[in-house]
Amino acid sequence: MKSSNLGYPRIGEKREWKKTLESFWAGQIEETDFLAIMESIRLAHIRKQKEIGIDLIPVGDFTFYDHMLDTAVMFGLVPERFHHTGGEVPLSVYFSMARGSKDAPACEMTKWFNTNYHYIAPELNSRLRPRLIENKPLKAFQEAKAKLGIKGKPVLIGPYTFIKLSKGFDSKQLPALILLLLPLYEQVLQELEKEGAEWVQIDEPILVTSLAKEEMATIAFIYQKLNKAAPRLNIMLQTYFEAAEWYEELIELPVQGIGLDFTCSLEENSENILKFGFPSDKILAAGMIDGRNIWRADLAEKRKLIETIAAVVPEDRLWLQPSSSLIHLPITIKNEINLSPLLKHSLAFADEKLEEIVYLAKLFRGEIDQEDRYYQDNQQALRLLKNDASRYNHHVQKEQEKLKNERAERKSPYLVRKKRQKEVWELPILPTTTIGSFSQTAEVRKARQKLKKGEWIQPQYEQFIQQEIRKWIAIQEEIGLDVLVHGEFERTDMVEFFGEKLGGFAFTENGWVQSYGSRCFRPPIIYGDVEFLQPMTVKESVYAQSLTSKPVKGMLTGPVTILNWSFVRDDRPRQEVAEQIALALRKEVEILEAAGISMIQVDEPALLEGLPLKEEKKQEYLEWAVRMFRIVTSTVEDTTQIHTHMCYCDFSAYMHDISKMDADVISIETSRSHGEIIPVFEKETYDKGIGLGVYDIHSPRVPSVEEIAAIIEQSLQVLDVEQFWINPDCGLKTRGEEETIASLKNMVAAARLVRKRL
Ligand code: GLN
Ligand code: ZN
Repeated sequence: MKSSNLGYPRIGEKREWKKTLESFWAGQIEETDFLAIMESIRLAHIRKQKEIGIDLIPVGDFTFYDHMLDTAVMFGLVPERFHHTGGEVPLSVYFSMARGSKDAPACEMTKWFNTNYHYIAPELNSRLRPRLIENKPLKAFQEAKAKLGIKGKPVLIGPYTFIKLSKGFDSKQLPALILLLLPLYEQVLQELEKEGAEWVQIDEPILVTSLAKEEMATIAFIYQKLNKAAPRLNIMLQTYFEAAEWYEELIELPVQGIGLDFTCSLEENSENILKFGFPSDKILAAGMIDGRNIWRADLAEKRKLIETIAAVVPEDRLWLQPSSSLIHLPITIKNEINLSPLLKHSLAFADEKLEEIVYLAKLFRGEIDQEDRYYQDNQQALRLLKNDASRYNHHVQKEQEKLKNERAERKSPYLVRKKRQKEVWELPILPTTTIGSFSQTAEVRKARQKLKKGEWIQPQYEQFIQQEIRKWIAIQEEIGLDVLVHGEFERTDMVEFFGEKLGGFAFTENGWVQSYGSRCFRPPIIYGDVEFLQPMTVKESVYAQSLTSKPVKGMLTGPVTILNWSFVRDDRPRQEVAEQIALALRKEVEILEAAGISMIQVDEPALLEGLPLKEEKKQEYLEWAVRMFRIVTSTVEDTTQIHTHMCYCDFSAYMHDISKMDADVISIETSRSHGEIIPVFEKETYDKGIGLGVYDIHSPRVPSVEEIAAIIEQSLQVLDVEQFWINPDCGLKTRGEEETIASLKNMVAAARLVRKRL
């Protein structure tokens, strides 16, 4: 029984990867230094996995930004607007595709299945002439072999997933695109075979989504080709995140191994194995250890599970591995100092997950004693966690009980509220606003550091925050925005900030996870019942409102986003945890309202992130997720205007459900996804206030007035002027002050221009 891994976090124990990238972008290091540092990070990660004892170590999973982007670039799939004329793709073009350049908007960035990792969507069209510019997995394989003497397992995104996640073509073109890309994949595999690679891991997570049965025939065709192209190279066809839709067809594919997830889809996959068996000529790579959550595995349970599987698939044809790539986890628990000893003892990050894998593999190989110290320690940790009284709060549980019979509806229906709000607010048509945050400058971050290190006392810090708020209220008034925000300077992160003030949360110091590109976040840990302890946002909002006669939106992160961006206890249904968060946020909303804040935005950028990957499971999730939002926002007066914001996701299919959130105004990221959602409103009626983001905030580029006006006018062809709001795609915290002001000035000018033209 071998141990294997699917992918290792790139960012480095001390976020060396992020820092290297950002200093390269800032022009502080030369390209040769950049490449050298990246190489040393890459090799260190491989070495570490070797030391832990992993048999099949992934190579080629490393990237300078994103693995989907890498795949596109390796096939020379550079959109025309980046003016690449063929040949090797320079780093400048690579990073322009990811981040945009002066003359060309970035490629779309969107969520990777149901995770908070974002990939760069490849753009395909029939004019492209893809060819293999660089065999990235081969290079990675050669590097590990030459520099470390390690024969790695090259990893690449499978052709079907790659094409299905790409943009710019319609389904009729799919067969042609497959035929266009297949020879390149064949070449990649042939070169790997020639170099002596034994296994290649081909990721096809698309197999766990709802595919039509006919698609399995296409996939069979693809793998026949690939298998034939490199007959001596073994293909591990890897799925993760859920069970494959077509198990019986999947196991018949002409590949040498199949990777299945036995964590989130444990029941389905074990059922499939028991019911339909597993072919005797294939390896089963069993995703045993959760690659998405941070709790230590129950080794007793895992042992039983492996025994069950091994009754169908003999041990010599079994690999043990994490359920998915480990990029969704922090690196190691080792560097955590402030966590309670009990909690620290209960957690396993990427490295510790690999240790669990290695332990289980050795146990089954008979290399270690049953129930040795490691095992005892594991069982004790789980027991202690379960019995820890601080995780259970009867008061909260009682409140949840009461909520059961509540409909969570606003006092009046939207049309009634709309009329009342119109009278109270007196906004112009096409009101302008922003999403919440403004530049988190080095100064702002330094102030927080000072407070943390004790160089500043709380009042000093608060004074600094007030000064920032004052400055930005003045800037917003000068720009001429209609609805203002306080700027979120007091917040590190939209989830951490709230978690720190709620009961039931714990925080790591180094538990960083990549979100997109160099951007990392530190998901909090929800270990106990969540409880409201104190007002969280009232002081800053009230202060901001006191400075202006224009409305200032109160600003909260929604319950589903807090849930989806945290590591959640696994002894309770997620829905119950979300409900506790919602109850706490409802209290905050009520206090804000009582303090005179009557526009309140509850952000739910991650609402769709928790969406199951299979169609038949989606509705149930949407229903409870929408309900959570309504629990937070439904007790306010009719005249209180509830806003929400969503981003990084394809909402097109869900506007009907989103409408049920009953927010008076929603702002949606639109420009980064190149306006993809706009046509939805030709068919779908959406009757509430809506702002479709008029410019992409992920790029430092300042959009022109005309460009924004054109986008507004495009949206107005499908939406009513009376309901349309003007706002950027998302929050502006990553943008510099100057470019933010310039962009917003153009946005306001564009709104005025369009108002005049109407
Ligand atoms: N209000 C938040 C901000 O502006 C929203 C961020 C988000 O959508 N991810 O930063
Ligand atoms: Zn956003």
